[in-house]
Amino acid sequence: MEPVHETKANPCTKCGHVIEYVADLGNRVERAPRPGSFAMCLECGWTMIYDEDMRLRDMTPRETNDIIGDPRFIRTQMMRPILKRRLEKWRQRNERRTDQA
Ligand SMILES: [Zn+2]
Repeated sequence: MEPVHETKANPCTKCGHVIEYVADLGNRVERAPRPGSFAMCLECGWTMIYDEDMRLRDMTPRETNDIIGDPRFIRTQMMRPILKRRLEKWRQRNERRTDQA
């Protein structure tokens, strides 16, 4: 699956789900999110943006406009239920490894 990165724990600004892991869907190379990166909550599909302190904030209307026709955004929206399951499995595997260590 896509590379998964652990991030600072951030609540979704819409549903409050805590986002601690992100998968980069923009391309297949290993790349951690950085200020200005988009993030989609896999619980509710709300899309946010990382600020300078790597906290999630709502997008401005202009930023929303910029992303709305982006094929990566549409793909992520469509794949959200699948991604959610994948990320959950990845997290469980990762936690088991941590337990055994
Ligand atoms: Zn959410």
